[in-house]
Amino acid sequence: MVRVIPQKNQGSLRVMDRIKEVVRHVPEGISISFEFFPPKEVEKENSLWDALHRLLPLQPKFVSVTYGAGYSDRARTRNLVERIQKTTDIPVSPHLTCVGHTRDQLKDILDSYWQAGVRNLVAVRGDRAPGDTSPLPVPYALDLIELIRSQYAFEIYVAAYPDVHPAAPTARFDLDNLKRKIDAGATAAITQFFFDNNDFLRFRDRCRKAGIQAEIIPGILPVTNFERTKTFADRCGARVPEWFHQYFEGLDEEPETRNFIAAGLAIDQVQELHLEGVNHFHFYTLNRCELTYAICRSLGLRSQRVVAC
Ligand SMILES: Cc1cc2nc3c(=O)[nH]c(=O)nc-3n(C[C@H](O)[C@H](O)[C@H](O)COP(=O)(O)OP(=O)(O)OC[C@H]3O[C@@H](n4cnc5c(N)ncnc54)[C@H](O)[C@@H]3O)c2cc1C
Repeated sequence: MVRVIPQKNQGSLRVMDRIKEVVRHVPEGISISFEFFPPKEVEKENSLWDALHRLLPLQPKFVSVTYGAGYSDRARTRNLVERIQKTTDIPVSPHLTCVGHTRDQLKDILDSYWQAGVRNLVAVRGDRAPGDTSPLPVPYALDLIELIRSQYAFEIYVAAYPDVHPAAPTARFDLDNLKRKIDAGATAAITQFFFDNNDFLRFRDRCRKAGIQAEIIPGILPVTNFERTKTFADRCGARVPEWFHQYFEGLDEEPETRNFIAAGLAIDQVQELHLEGVNHFHFYTLNRCELTYAICRSLGLRSQRVVAC
């Protein structure tokens, strides 16, 4: 018997039809990038290095390394960037936040990255540490981009929010803010994660109508832990649609089934986006490789060679 996918936005497609469609359509010209974070605990480093070993041979366009949320030890980002640079030839794109830094500190960081051969950055504002009310010398991502552009030729990726940044006064303001970031010299935007492709596609349309021609790269979050995903989503204002909840409902004790479903949903999501003309996918790996690797394989991507790390 053939089951029917619960009321996803594009109407009900039979699972087998969907799978056949996916298998027939091995996308060409896809590029990928992976986001990792520098783990706090030494014991979590194994998972990170396993993920790097598995995923880097897929030849991402770049890998990005997040930067000290809540002002946590930011040297870890630098160390991880250096190590990936030393052991692979995949371009590394460190994230840099402006909150919690003076202009001079930011310039020092930028100088040292440039001298180390880094040529891509993900430039974001970051969020203030709880209780920090001190004046911000470089208050917004736009100011950081202007600072970077005034002295360096980095490729700059910036953040974008299909579901609107939670602190934005209006959706229009947020869109104008993105346009200002691109006009100030950002290369492309990477979106916050989302699960309903319609949210992304509507957002991309709004960007085009607002005159933003830069690439809008969807941020894809393969769901390894649904409870944690909901917490992330609450914090960053990403919408988790009801039908997405339904897929994971009652699976708390069934990790294997959860993983199959998460992989299926993410494969579906990426395939649909590719049919809508998306060619670059940015994966929030959370330092795990299994689901991201499976999704990339399903896209026809294959390991090119072994990476030392
Ligand atoms: C791809 C991606 C990568 C990320 N990487 C990191 C990371 O490594 N480390 C980390 O700590 N966080 C990271 N974040 C989270 C990010 O720092 C937060 O979402 C932060 O709250 C906003 O950053 P931004 O660059 O979008 O800020 P901005 O573009 O500066 O916007 C922040 C908010 O301020 C509003 N705003 C902009 N200008 C003004 C103004 N002049 N007056 C009033 N309001 C204004 C905007 O509408 C928005 O609501 C990342 C997010 C994404 C999507």
